[in-house]
Amino acid sequence: MSRILIIEDETSIAELERDYLELSDFEVELEEDGVRGLNRALNEDFDLMILDLMLPGMDGFEICKKFRETKNTPIIIISAKKEDIDKIRGLGLGADDYMIKPFSPSEMVARVKAHLARYERLIGSGSPGNEVIEIRGLKIDKTARRVWVNGEEKNFTTKEFDLLSFLAQNPNHVYTKEELFSRIWDMESIGDIATVTVHIKKIREKIEFNTAKPQYIETIWGMGYRFKM
Ligand code: CA
Repeated sequence: MSRILIIEDETSIAELERDYLELSDFEVELEEDGVRGLNRALNEDFDLMILDLMLPGMDGFEICKKFRETKNTPIIIISAKKEDIDKIRGLGLGADDYMIKPFSPSEMVARVKAHLARYERLIGSGSPGNEVIEIRGLKIDKTARRVWVNGEEKNFTTKEFDLLSFLAQNPNHVYTKEELFSRIWDMESIGDIATVTVHIKKIREKIEFNTAKPQYIETIWGMGYRFKM
């Protein structure tokens, strides 16, 4: 049975969501405070989180950001304002879906099921033996050398693919441009460390929602690049 955490301070909405999900055989926990909600999300095993934005303690933007630093389970944002959805997309906080209040509870249940199914597919994805990296909607099949962003396949050149998969399989490690150039390009290659910058830019254009605020490959000023886990 899948466990779902609902962080919502409006009791009537929280209970409505819970009732519909329980009718579909989900196990549901409610939390109305942002700080307590984030702690539970991080320390307990939930399969999906339904997150309100305006909350006491800590808002949904911050919860989403902090949660994504360590966990990849799906997040559905529920907001009272359309502008907040644009903001959360713009910030690249890694939410998987968004719904605006008032919403249809049965549509919410349908989306929960769809996200759980997609996440399970991604976790156990790839043909047997294929080495697959899956992080927040980005899926890299190292064996087939294919890349998907939120289910949509993107085309990568050989070096772009090599660079992206090298960074993704060494997350949270900062590499200088020199290190990346020497690892991905052999000594006879024409080019220099500026080549790395150009390739990072092209990769971001393919995988990032907002290239000005990258959620996958971060620039560490004066150091180099890091793939954010
Ligand atoms: Ca609220």
